[in-house]
This record gives sequence, C-alpha cells and structure tokens, in this order.
Amino acid sequence: MPSTAPPLACSVRACGLPLERRGASWVCERGHSFDVARSGYVSLLQPQDRRSLEAGDSRATALSRRELLDEGFGAVLESALVEVASELELAPGAFVADLGCGDGRFLAAVCAKTGLHGIGIDLSAHAVELGARRHPAHTWVVANADRRLPLVDGSLALALSIDGRRPRDEFARTLCANGALLVAVPAADDLAELRGAVLGEVHDAPRVERVAAELAPDFVLAGHTTARARIRLERASLARLAAATYRCARAREREALEQLDGLEVTTSHDVLVFRRSHG
Ligand SMILES: [Zn+2]
Repeated sequence: MPSTAPPLACSVRACGLPLERRGASWVCERGHSFDVARSGYVSLLQPQDRRSLEAGDSRATALSRRELLDEGFGAVLESALVEVASELELAPGAFVADLGCGDGRFLAAVCAKTGLHGIGIDLSAHAVELGARRHPAHTWVVANADRRLPLVDGSLALALSIDGRRPRDEFARTLCANGALLVAVPAADDLAELRGAVLGEVHDAPRVERVAAELAPDFVLAGHTTARARIRLERASLARLAAATYRCARAREREALEQLDGLEVTTSHDVLVFRRSHG
C-alpha cells in the first residue's frame, strides 16, 4: 500500500485541485467528481481531450499487445527496466507514473521490485482496464498524456515513458526534486527483420542524443543501457504483433505478414535514465 493517497489531480480545465477517493468516486474540493469503473480504473478524460469517442487503442489492439507480452515478447525490456529502476533506490511507497502504460505490465513489474506504488496512465480505456483487473493494488487512469497530466506537482519519485510521450514540462512539474525519469525508445535495429520482410520502410528511431536534447535543460542523461533480444515468432504471434503495432496497420503490410510462417525478430530498446538538473 502507498504511504499516502495517490496524488491524482482534477482534470477539469483550470481546476487542478488534488482529488480524494470517496467511495466509488474521486472528487476535488470544488465538487468535480469522477466515477471509478467497476474494473477499478478512473477516467479523467475531458471531452476536449479526446479526438474521437473511442480514444486510444482498441480493445483488440490492447489484447493483442498483452498476449504478445504474455508470450515473453517484452521480457528483455522488462528485465532492463526493473534492474535500472531498482538501482535508483527509491523509497518504497513513493509514486511512479507510467505515461502510455498500456496493460501496465512494465509498471507492475517495476513496482513489484521497488515497492513503489504505480499510477498507470493511458488514453485507451481498454488498455487501462486490463491493467486494473490484473494489478488492482495500483492506480489506473484514463487520460491524455499530451495534455496536462492529472497529477499533483512534485508528487512522483519516478516517471516512466516506454515507447511513449515525453512531455518535458509535465515531467518537470510532477517529479519531486530528486525524482528520476526512465525512458525506453526503440533502438535502430528494433524489429529490423520485420521491416525488411514486410514493410520495406526506413526506420526513424529516435536517437539517444535527440531524446536527451528534448529533455534538456530540465533533465540530464544519467544512464544508458540497451535491452536487445532475438525472438522467433510463429505465425500467430506475428499476427498479434501486426495488430499490436501501428507500424503494421496498412492492409498491404498485413497481407505480406500473413504470407510468413514465422520469423526471427530482433527487439531492441535504449533504456535511458534521466535525473533532474539542478543549477
Ligand atoms: Zn476540480
């Protein structure tokens, strides 16, 4: 259990007051109220924050991604994240938020090792619901990470961005003075075989230097490891990968993928630790 209540903040425009859990709702002092869904998550999405009614990943996409991860597709990345996070020696019970948490697997793994309390944030209610059902001890929130994060200033010990958004100003606002930021981005050779076999596209992997430049001057790069593995994916897993990634969204690419019986693919991420710069 966290030492204090999860530091959620009201998402009503120009409010931003802390939210308090009361029964099956989160409420602020101005009386804004957000119901907790039966599966345990809360949607703090405001109408202006969603571009369509079905914002974020569909249920099918979220399920495909979870099945792929259940098969071990993200195991090497998960190990790297857990190891790096545990080396930060953060106080158990402190808060970690994952922006674009998906089904929350990586967040839950980091929390299991570090004793942190997780706050999973994703635009997809379907993805967040999967996290809430499997990991009910943590806090699960539907929100748009492109906007103001529904979190209290200075409330986080750690923030995670795994193939996700990197809103520097919001990281700076929500992390505490000695907080850390853990960023994973696909490396240049991530899914290289798949792109060669199917997509024929040039990979525009974000370079480590570019990520560091984005996050300066508030954050400085303090650590860098690479999580790389080669995994044989059979036909059914390739189909899940196609469904789980936007990179394979086009019909022509799905058809090409369906011609393959299986493929050995490289998964490769740069895992970066950023610390706040003081000075
Ligand atoms: Zn409010």
